[in-house]
Amino acid sequence: MTQAVDWASIRRDFPILSQTVHGKPLIYLDNAATSQKPRVVIDALRDYYERYNANVHRGIHELSARATAAFEAARARVARFINARSPDEIIFTRGTTEAINLVAASWGAANLRPGDVILLTEMEHHSNIVPWQQIAARTGATLVYLPVTGDEGLLDLDKLDTLLTHRVKLFGMVHVSNSLGTVNPVAELCARARARGITTLVDGAQSAGHMPVDVQQIGCDFFAFSGHKMCGPTGIGILYARAALLEAMPPYQTGGEMILRVEYHHTEFKKPPHKFEAGTPDIAGPIGLHVAMDYLDAIGRANIWAHDQALATYAYEQLAAKVPGVRLFGPRTGRAGLVSFAIPGVHAHDIVTFADRAGIALRGGHHCTQPLMHKLGVEATTRASFYFYNTKDEVDRLVEVICEAQRFFNR
Ligand code: PMP
Repeated sequence: MTQAVDWASIRRDFPILSQTVHGKPLIYLDNAATSQKPRVVIDALRDYYERYNANVHRGIHELSARATAAFEAARARVARFINARSPDEIIFTRGTTEAINLVAASWGAANLRPGDVILLTEMEHHSNIVPWQQIAARTGATLVYLPVTGDEGLLDLDKLDTLLTHRVKLFGMVHVSNSLGTVNPVAELCARARARGITTLVDGAQSAGHMPVDVQQIGCDFFAFSGHKMCGPTGIGILYARAALLEAMPPYQTGGEMILRVEYHHTEFKKPPHKFEAGTPDIAGPIGLHVAMDYLDAIGRANIWAHDQALATYAYEQLAAKVPGVRLFGPRTGRAGLVSFAIPGVHAHDIVTFADRAGIALRGGHHCTQPLMHKLGVEATTRASFYFYNTKDEVDRLVEVICEAQRFFNR
C-alpha cells in the first residue's frame, strides 16, 4: 500500500542535490550507477569515526565492543530488510560484484563439473556473466542464456522449460535490468528452477533499495545487492545465501577473522557468516547502510517503488511523444525507475555531454551489458535513472534538453 509522502521535504535530506553544475541546478539522473546519500547516513559515518572507530570481533576494550555491536546490528537489520531467516545468512561483501564472485568461486568450484550448465539471461550485467565465465573455464561447465525478446526487453519465458535441462546446476538472473528497466518475475523463475533442483541466484543490485524485497517469497538461494545504490556508502554489499548452502560452501578468501584455530599445517574455520569474511571488514559501511535501510523503510519501499515507476513511465511516454525517431528500450508498462533510449544519428556520449552542460547527470554507454547491446544492435544507449528525490519537473527538463540535443546534433 502506498501513502502520501512529502517528497519535497525528503529531497532536502540530500545536501548534494542543492548545488549548481555548470551554472544550472543539478538534476541527478544517474541513480542506477549510484544513489546520493541523505544527511543521516553521512552523519552516521562521521559519528562512527569520531566516537567508536575500532576493529571488530577482536578487542575486549569498550570501543571495540561498541563497533562490534554496531557491525552485527547492521547484519541483523539487513536480514530483516530482505526477510532472511537469520542474520547468519547475511555476508558482508564490497558490493554485488564481490557477492557474485564469492558464489562463483566458492559454490561454483565445489559444485560444477564438466558438462554442467550455468543458465543466465541475456540481460545480465557483466558482474553476473564474467565470474561465471571464469569458473566455467576452470570447471568445464558451459554457459547458456535465456533470450531477451527484443527492444521491449522481456525474457522469453516460453523457452525456459527447454533450457532448464538436467544439466543446469545454477540459474542466475537479474531482478531489475539496469539497462532496460525490465522487472523480471524472479519468484516464478526461481520456482521453476527449484522444481528441478536447480540452485538460483538473483542479482538485486537495482531492486533492493527500490521495492519491497522478500528473499523467502522470491524463493532464491542467493541474493546479491550493493549498499551504494540504496542511499548507503560505497564499499559495502550483501550476499544473502540459504544457511544450508553456506554451511556446505568452502571459504572464499582466507586469513584473519574467519578462523577458529590455526596451526602451521591446518586451520579450522568459523561458522557462516564469519567463514566468508576474511580480514578487517568495512566497518563504517554496514553502520551507514543500517541507517540507510531505516531511512528507506521510514519512507516505505512501496512508496519509493510507486514514485520511481511513475517518473519512469512519464519519462518514457514524454520521450516517445516528443523526440522524433527515438528508440526506447525495455517494456512500456511495468518498468522500473529508469529509461534507456537511443536517438538515430546522435551518439549517447554526445547526449550525455550536452545534458551535463545543462546540469543534468545521465549515463551513456553499454551500462556493463555489452552482450545485450550487441543483441539489440546498438553500441550504447542513454540512460536516465530515477530515485525518490527526483521530481516530475526534472523529467520535463530532461525531455526539453534531449529535444534540444537532438536539434543541435542533427543540424
Ligand atoms: N548488477 C546490476 C544489475 C547493476 O546495475 C550493477 C551496478 N551497475 C551491478 C550488478 C554491480 O554492482 P557493484 O558495482 O555495486 O558491485
